[in-house]
Amino acid sequence: MTIESSTDVTLIADLHINGRWVAGESGDRFPVIDPASGRSIASFAIASDADCTNAIEAASAVLPSWSSTPPRVRSELLTRTFQILKAEREALAEIIVRENGKAFSDALGEADYATEFFRWFAEEAVRVAGDFRLSPSGDKHILVTHQPIGVSLLITPWNFPAAMATRKIAPALAAGCTVVLKPARETPLTAAYVVDALRRAGAPDGVVNLVTPVPTGPAIARMLHHPAVRKVSFTGSTEVGRILLREAADNVVSASMELGGNAPFIVLPGADIEAAVQGALVAKMRNGGSACTAANRFYVHSSVSAAFTKAVTAELSRFQVGPGIDRENQLGALVSVGERDKVAELVDVAVSEGATVALGGESSAEGAFYSATVLTGVQHGGTITGTEIFGPVTAIVEYDDVDEAVRMANDTIYGLIAYVYGETGQALSVARRIDAGMVAVNRAVLSDPAAPFGGMKQSGLGREGSSEGILEFLEEKYIGIEL
Ligand code: NAD
Repeated sequence: MTIESSTDVTLIADLHINGRWVAGESGDRFPVIDPASGRSIASFAIASDADCTNAIEAASAVLPSWSSTPPRVRSELLTRTFQILKAEREALAEIIVRENGKAFSDALGEADYATEFFRWFAEEAVRVAGDFRLSPSGDKHILVTHQPIGVSLLITPWNFPAAMATRKIAPALAAGCTVVLKPARETPLTAAYVVDALRRAGAPDGVVNLVTPVPTGPAIARMLHHPAVRKVSFTGSTEVGRILLREAADNVVSASMELGGNAPFIVLPGADIEAAVQGALVAKMRNGGSACTAANRFYVHSSVSAAFTKAVTAELSRFQVGPGIDRENQLGALVSVGERDKVAELVDVAVSEGATVALGGESSAEGAFYSATVLTGVQHGGTITGTEIFGPVTAIVEYDDVDEAVRMANDTIYGLIAYVYGETGQALSVARRIDAGMVAVNRAVLSDPAAPFGGMKQSGLGREGSSEGILEFLEEKYIGIEL
């Protein structure tokens, strides 16, 4: 089956195996739902075990030729893909909106961010460094080179369906690996669009494959036990990450993990409140709050909390909520009614634990919408400060002592990202004390293909983007040369 986007680009809602779009062995399909309307917008092929094995074997068969393809040639494929997706950013954004529900401006931002990984890793493909030196005893030369790790299984979530895929595919291909992509069931169309862009850019057959097995868990477990698979790169929940680490252990498959977050947003006593409010709106509401980087817990100093809360509430009360496809809406639908109901339940629990709803707290009658919400009087240690909200809920905790704010910020199993607003010197010193892979000081957006993205503690293993991103798909090899 194919669906047409309004920008005249045909999207093929099938599996991609060995350079061809195929309906899959079983012929079974699952629906793709538009969360704004609750209606099915496409049907997508279900991959059987045989389809998944075929995808791995196609990736394995072409690995020797792709890994020995000159880096410049690999780089040029990524550059052409960058150019295609850049020219088609509106079409890509539209598909993201239709299956994910986010606001169009968020989808356009994601399309640009996602596309940029192809340009960044086109540049990195030709810059992989090695080393050559004399051993301390003078008996040999030590040559250190890098070799592609091999067939890589890439598993991505629904919240950034384009960027989470390109952040893995681009470095893998740049490194000389071949890939099998398994997108989230909610958002396979965006993944198919990205894979089709690579096909149109001239990716050799088998270099990029896409499968959508249902149910996912057993199929992925089998794939991780295929001897050709040497890498799993996963973005998703910590819970599923733990399962994959266990599965990967059997064949000692290299694992990169971008997992859940529980980002604190600390407003220090000397903060510029207007800047902190504007930052809070972005850190909280980008992607409707469905981001691993979304500010989850606001720790606001008691000297500024009244002003901060009043201004954030006023701004959010003006947020326009509705289908993401209508470009004036700032807050779209959550990805599904189920995800929306999880958010609503978290708010109910927070209220039962003593929080007050200062704004919002409402689910829509139709579609998976939840209103922009502000909770005040939240106590650290309650359910909502310990849970990744993944929705448009601003939970505000007041504090008196900066050391206590740092302690609360670090009081979590997660360590992905934190935000600190304050006078630069103090904010920097707080940033250094926070156990997170990324800290934003007086700014609300950190993601950048040129910067290392990743978490500490149970938020993950490894880094994506930057020059580190390609190393996740390379192995060091030491060759000793007799003198
Ligand atoms: P999820 O863990 O439920 O699913 C992610 C992917 O794993 C999907 O493709 C899903 O089909 C697959 N999956 C589910 N069960 C599996 C299993 N047993 N074995 C193998 N694969 C399985 O996550 P989600 O709900 O799609 O995404 C939200 C989560 O992703 C949040 O926790 C969020 O913080 C996290 N996330 C992290 C980052 C990051 O970079 N750290 C970025 C985006 C999202």
